[in-house]
Amino acid sequence: MKFDILTLFPEVIDAVLKESIIGRAQENGIIEINAVNIRDYSKNKHKKADDYPYGGGGGMIMTAQPIYDAYLSVVKDVEHKPKVIYLSPQGRVLTQEVVKELSKENHIVLLCGHYEGIDERIIEEIVDEEISIGDYVLTGGELPAMVLIDSVSRLIPGVLSSEDSYSQESHYEGLLEYPQYTRPVEFNNREVPDILLSGHHANITRWRRKEAIKRTYLKRPDLFARFESGKDDKKLIGEVLKELEDKKKN
Ligand code: SAM
Repeated sequence: MKFDILTLFPEVIDAVLKESIIGRAQENGIIEINAVNIRDYSKNKHKKADDYPYGGGGGMIMTAQPIYDAYLSVVKDVEHKPKVIYLSPQGRVLTQEVVKELSKENHIVLLCGHYEGIDERIIEEIVDEEISIGDYVLTGGELPAMVLIDSVSRLIPGVLSSEDSYSQESHYEGLLEYPQYTRPVEFNNREVPDILLSGHHANITRWRRKEAIKRTYLKRPDLFARFESGKDDKKLIGEVLKELEDKKKN
């Protein structure tokens, strides 16, 4: 999977994404991340890449020409047109479902806005989709681009050590993840649940599923309401709800 990021601040991207799991995935050639400095493509003699908005109003707008030429530089030798995403608070909200969908792409170009945003004509000209990381406004698209790359890369085979690492995780199948523990067995008088020390894998799996159901029900009733449960889960849901009801009574 290749990501090209069109940005005014490539050093921010390079500094963060060269670390840890995503950094290793790049070293191993599983993903490729290329940050392109839009300003390098400005034809303005001062390398300006923004200007005042027509019609007045505060702030600056990123101009179309440098973005377009930066975009042409990343697509000039490609066989297949990449998917071009503009990170924008006006876009489709990034959820794990959207992340799964994007992980099937081979090449994504991410356009990061800054200041008051970008000239509308460049969106019309090159952008396939706008993606938002949530209903709030940030100063630039760099953090959203990194959020998107991180979440999508984790689903690419070979980036994590095994598929289990993400298929059990929160949101993957509509539930939150069960609680996790590591050494020591006791910490500040709090003990690891006995079942996790039992070595009985079937019981551990069942316990974890019930905990995942319970947490989702308690912490995210909106997710729980949308969760599509199979026959086995229905039984576990019944048990969890009864246990919670009994606890309330006592
Ligand atoms: N004037 C724009 C509006 O009201 O829709 C907001 C511009 S914002 C200050 C500057 C840039 O930050 C945007 O062009 C976009 O790239 C990025 N950005 C801000 N919030 C975002 C969000 N929630 N998700 C994705 N990108 C965001």
